[in-house]
Amino acid sequence: MQTRLLKIDRCNQKTADLSAACELLRKGELVAFPTETVYGLGGNACDASASARIYAAKGRPSDNPLIVHIAHKEDLSVVGRDVSEGAKKLADAFWPGPLTIIVNRADIIPKETTGGLDSVAVRMPSDIIANRLIDESGLFIAAPSANASGRPSTTRAEHCMEDLDGRIPMVIDGGPVKIGLESTIVDMSGDKPLILRPGFITKEELEKVIPGIEFDPAVIARVKNENIIAKAPGMKYRHYAPKGELTIYEGDAELVIKTINEKTAELKALGKKTAVLATEESKDLYTADYVASLGRRTDEAEIAVHLFEQLRNFDEIGADCIFAESFPQGGIGSAIMNRLMKAAGYRIITLN
Ligand code: AMP
Ligand code: MG
Repeated sequence: MQTRLLKIDRCNQKTADLSAACELLRKGELVAFPTETVYGLGGNACDASASARIYAAKGRPSDNPLIVHIAHKEDLSVVGRDVSEGAKKLADAFWPGPLTIIVNRADIIPKETTGGLDSVAVRMPSDIIANRLIDESGLFIAAPSANASGRPSTTRAEHCMEDLDGRIPMVIDGGPVKIGLESTIVDMSGDKPLILRPGFITKEELEKVIPGIEFDPAVIARVKNENIIAKAPGMKYRHYAPKGELTIYEGDAELVIKTINEKTAELKALGKKTAVLATEESKDLYTADYVASLGRRTDEAEIAVHLFEQLRNFDEIGADCIFAESFPQGGIGSAIMNRLMKAAGYRIITLN
C-alpha cells in the first residue's frame, strides 16, 4: 500500500482541505494525524473492523484498548453511559486538552475498540487538525499513538512514516506536536477516581477539580510487581524502549556524571557504541559517543517535548548502551519519569 503524506502548513490549519482524510476514515480506513500530545493512528471508533485494522497496523495486542476521540464535549455522554458528575467536571475543566477520561462504555462503541472492556477512554483534543478531522468526518475516532507497538510514540509525521509507511493509506503532516507526551488518563468509571497514566495535566491540577484523586498503584510501582494488576492494560506492556540497553542514574548530579563517564569508558573499550540522555546544563560534561540534550532542566515542558524524539534517535545512531539522567517526580516530572522508566524496563540505579 502506498502511504500518502498530506502536508499542512501551520498557517493553513483552519482551512486546509481534509476531505480526502475524512473520506478514508468513513470507508473504514486508517489515517495518522497530529494531536497536541502525540500523533494518533485514527479509525472509525464505531466500526469493529477499523479497530482491528488499527491493532494490525501497529502490531498492538488486541486487549490493549484504544482512546476514542470526540470533537464536542456533549459527545462524552454519547460514547459513554451513566457518566458521573466528576467526569463531567473534568471535561469542563480540561477539554479540549490532553486529558483522557474513562467512563462506562455505551453500546455505540464496540468491544473491539475497547479491548473487550465495558469502559471506554474518551478525549477531546485541542489540536485544530485533530478537532477538524473528527468534526468534518462526522465520526468518533479511535486513535492510539501512531507508532509501531513497543516503539516510542510519534511526535512528528516523519516518525509515523518510519513506523507505518506502506501499512496505512495516509499520514497528515501537521509539523511537530506541542506537548510530546501522551494524555493523562483518569479512570472515572469506578468508585474511586484514579490516575492510570501521568501526563501533561498533573495530579496537582486534577486535585483542584477532584479532591482526593490518587495515582493507581501500578503507576508509582518502581519495579514490576506481580501483585499489582495494571488497570490500564497498556501499562503492562513494554513501551518506548530503544534497541540499546537504557539505564537511568539518579542521585547527586556530579556523581551521576562521573559514574556515567566511567561506565561509558569501559564500554567504549569493549567496542560498544555509548550514548547519554542529558540536559542543556550537563551535555558538555559527558564523554560518550553520542550525547543528546532534552532541553533545560528548569523547563519540564521542554524536556517532555523532546523525550520520544531522542529515544528514537538512539536507534538511528545504533547506540548499544544508553545512560539517562533522572528527573524529579511531581508535576510533569511524574509523566517524564513514567515514560523513561518504561523505556528503561525499570532499570534505575541510585547513587549516593
Ligand atoms: P495509547 O493511545 O497508545 O497511548 O494507548 C491508550 C492507553 O489508554 C493504553 O495504555 C490503554 O491501556 C489505556 N486505555 C484505553 N481505554 C482504557 C480503558 N477503558 N480502561 C483502562 N485503560 C484504558
Ligand atoms: Mg501508545
